[in-house]
Parts: sequence; structure tokens; C-alpha cells
Amino acid sequence: MSGFWLFLVCLMGLCWGSFLSVLVMRTLKEESILYPQSHCTSCNKPLLWWHKIPIISFLILKGKCYFCNAPISIQYIIFEITGLVIWLFSFNKYVSIYDALAVVIILSMFLSISYSDIKDKKISTYQTIIIAFAGLLFNRFDLMNSILGGIVGAGLVYLFIYLGLKLLKKETFGEGDIYLLGAFGAVVGFNKLFLFLIYALFAELFFVLPKYISNLIKTGNEKTLKYLIYFSLACLFLYVFRNMSFWGSNLIFIGCLIYILYLACQIVQDLFYAIKTQENQSYCPIAPALALACLFFLM
Ligand SMILES: [Zn+2]
Repeated sequence: MSGFWLFLVCLMGLCWGSFLSVLVMRTLKEESILYPQSHCTSCNKPLLWWHKIPIISFLILKGKCYFCNAPISIQYIIFEITGLVIWLFSFNKYVSIYDALAVVIILSMFLSISYSDIKDKKISTYQTIIIAFAGLLFNRFDLMNSILGGIVGAGLVYLFIYLGLKLLKKETFGEGDIYLLGAFGAVVGFNKLFLFLIYALFAELFFVLPKYISNLIKTGNEKTLKYLIYFSLACLFLYVFRNMSFWGSNLIFIGCLIYILYLACQIVQDLFYAIKTQENQSYCPIAPALALACLFFLM
């Protein structure tokens, strides 16, 4: 990147981050992005033009409102820096300006959706639609793949919702998840959809496992906890000894695999039983996991 181009990208990134903070906060409050204009959240006075200059205004104002001296949330700075990082990443990684802009939009909208999904269990439909269009732009030389990815992604969630209602008599996914998976499919395309869904599943496990384990400990479900510990130990065992020569016979290896499969079946069975019987099933947001998988795809 040339010096001037780099300067321009940094400037745009900071301004974009500033816009991103407004977008995220107002999406949560279900307010319009355009109206009212930016104002102090304490005294509601509209900001002056120079109060909107990213980072610099924060430093000049020493992190306090110009009118009422109320502290300005550090969140704004974090969003501005995030915007900067997203722009630098996109324009450094992608030569085509269309690709870079599409990636900026995809990552930003995913960030916003993840934030509102974690905070408020909300997924903004119009933001998922923006992601889908940015996905089409990104895959403009392979449009059929992108469109098919979108349709299959959305269709999968639809199928899960249908099956969940039929078999478990439970709502497994929300309506927003249909659009979200559709947008995800449009970005990664049909040929990589399942691979990156698996990555998303792994990411989701990291979010869900701590809660699941603490639930198990609280409810004293020792059986499942025992399976979980054996399962982890068996996996660890396999990993540590994966290159040892005594796998020569392969018998121990196969035995181990069968044991792991058995434990996995038990755990899944218990998990399904827990979902079926628990009245207040705890909510697990899927947007952050999909966002991570998407980032992984774009890297
Ligand atoms: Zn104020």
C-alpha cells in the first residue's frame, strides 16, 4: 500500500468505526441510524461537528462530554479502532476494491449482529440481507455458487426448525437464524458451506461447553460428566500417542476410536435428553460462531 492510500484507508476505517458504534447501539435500541443526529447520552445535546472526529475528539475532550462533563463510553473508541482494523485487514488482503469493500461490509454487519445477538438475542433482518448482497458482490465471478449457498444455508435452518417442532416439540432456531445462515451461505458459497459450518460448530462448542458443564455440575448429573471426562481423556490419549510405533497392530487405535464413538453417542444422547426435558432451555447465540467461521473463511 502506498503512503497516501494507507492514510486514506486509515481515515476511512476510523470514520467507519464511528459509524459502526452508532449502528450497533441504535440497532440494540431499535432506533433509526439517521435520526436523531448524534447526541450525548446523558444531556441529549447534539454533538458539534468536531466532536465526531474519531479518537482525536475523545482526546481533546479528555473523554468527557463538552456540555455536561459526563464521561464518554470507552466503547466508542473500541468501535473506532475495530473499524480501523477491519479496513486495514480488508484493503491489505484484497487487491480489488470491490472485494475489499464487500469484506468490510460483511465483517462489520457480522460484528453488529453478534453484538446484538449476545446482548439482546436479536438478529437484525436487514443487516443479514446486507451481508447476503455483499456476499454476492464478493462472489460476483461465481454467482451460482453464492446463490446456491444462500438457499441451502437458509433451507437447512428451516428444516431444523421444522424437525425440532415435529420431533422435539421445541423451537430450535429463531426466524432470524434463517436469514443469518442464508447470508452466511451467500458469503462462503455452496462448495464450502458445509466445511465452514463445521468450523462454526466448533466455535459454538467453545461458547456452549462452559455453560453445559457448569449446568451438569449444578444439577449433579454425574453420569454425563463422567462420560465427558472419559471422552476428553480418550481423545487426549489418542492425540499424544498418535505417532507411536506400537500402533503397528492398530488394534489399540481402533479400540480407542470405538470407545470414543461410544462415549460421544452417550454424551449426545444425554444432551438431547437435557434439551427435551429442560423447560427453560438456556439461549445460545449462533451469530458469534458464524461470524468467527466467516472471518476464518475471509482470512
Ligand atoms: Zn452531555
